[in-house]
Amino acid sequence: MFKHILVSLCLLSTTRVVAQERYDLVLEGGRVMDPETGLDAVRNVGIRGDRIVEISSETLSAVEVLNVAGLVVAPGFIDLHAHGQTNAANEYQAHDGVTTALELESGVVFLKEWIDSRRGNAILNFGATVSHGGTRFMDMKKYAATVAHIRSIIAEHGLDSPELDEAMRPAFASRYESLEPDELDGMAETLSSGIREGALGVGVTVGYYPGATRQEIFRAYAFAAKIGVPVYTHVRDPDIPAIQEAIANAAATGASLHIVHLNSMALGKVDVALEMIAAAQKQGLDITTELYPYTAGSTGIESTLFDEGWQEVWDMDYGDLQWEATGERLTKETFEKYRAEGGTLIIHMMKDDWIDAGMRAPFTLIASDGMPYAPLAHPRSAGTFSRVLGRYVRERKVLSLMDALRKMTLMPAERLDPVAPGMRLKGRVQIGCDADLTIFDPATVIDTADFGKELSFANGIPYVIVNGTFVVRDGKTVKDAFPGRPVLGKYRN
Ligand SMILES: [Zn+2]
Repeated sequence: MFKHILVSLCLLSTTRVVAQERYDLVLEGGRVMDPETGLDAVRNVGIRGDRIVEISSETLSAVEVLNVAGLVVAPGFIDLHAHGQTNAANEYQAHDGVTTALELESGVVFLKEWIDSRRGNAILNFGATVSHGGTRFMDMKKYAATVAHIRSIIAEHGLDSPELDEAMRPAFASRYESLEPDELDGMAETLSSGIREGALGVGVTVGYYPGATRQEIFRAYAFAAKIGVPVYTHVRDPDIPAIQEAIANAAATGASLHIVHLNSMALGKVDVALEMIAAAQKQGLDITTELYPYTAGSTGIESTLFDEGWQEVWDMDYGDLQWEATGERLTKETFEKYRAEGGTLIIHMMKDDWIDAGMRAPFTLIASDGMPYAPLAHPRSAGTFSRVLGRYVRERKVLSLMDALRKMTLMPAERLDPVAPGMRLKGRVQIGCDADLTIFDPATVIDTADFGKELSFANGIPYVIVNGTFVVRDGKTVKDAFPGRPVLGKYRN
């Protein structure tokens, strides 16, 4: 009965058409898998415009009938954690089955301008949180002149200009600086303006700005709780006390909390972290988490993660670091040279067992943490979802196919639903839902991207449909297809 009620949510927003009507597209004979209703059966799926309007065992006629026998028809994958917010990055993710790619960890600083810049020309659905890390310098009185300068440059040149990069530079030092108590009210106002522009929550990447006091971070959570949006956080340190700080802030303020990439935050203590999150959920707290299926992380070498003492904090050495631009492993000399220049690292610091433990927990989501496009970017940027389906489901049987799909579709949609009600039409293959669909071969789906190797498309995902439009067809990118739409928070003005 419960399932029936949920199914009708999609139906509410559409008029069901009778079976004899023609459809724009029919996906014929595929194995339809819907994690919410548990449907796992051969069905024909009728699509009109941007909606799924029929799911039936009957033969359906359409302008185009595509035979997908032997393939799984799944909800399009929803990636909560995608830093690559260009079409170059979207294309790799589309081939990995992603239909919605959101920047919720770091968030975006000038959200309105960013949404305007992508609207109408994005391959995938997109959206973001307001960036606490990126906006906090605006609340520091000492940067008032810098902020005024930045705003004038955006007004004149938009977001993509070398002038803007240059103007932002002085604000870099703020990561080691604390907001004064009398600046904390301003922080709430700055974050509010992002929420009013359509942000999906607050991105609190405190691990990248050690200057933030416990009070400042607590206040960021209190703000999110008051407004009713979730916090997405990269916690303060890769260790249990930092995860406890996040859980404590959520518990004390009532904020919804999503802890990003638990694998690289908990490291060898992933079992403890999972136990804590499960216990918090049992207490009724709205706390979720995610992981990616790789034993290496990736971030900027100039970030505070590589400040003095990083070897002890992360339990690793120079040889565990790989330079993205060339694929080389670092030495003391090359580390110092590159740190002065800046650029992206791939960091080999995790073990397979830790990833398996995270994958097995029923409440974890899959998210890529995909990086901005670069030829040798971390393979998670192109292979996260196909890798889970190929290696963790088919080859190693760490989790079932339906459980894996749930972590990629329904669970992220549910995470977003309270703040973005449109998400109840995504993450599902049901009548009335959005036609965001990923069609893959469970026998062959696999990632092909690897460390130190040029980024490459996943295999075994021949069709990907976003809002009723193919973005991948016969395994190839559809040229000039930009059906992606913004996913906006409900508090937008
Ligand atoms: Zn992170």
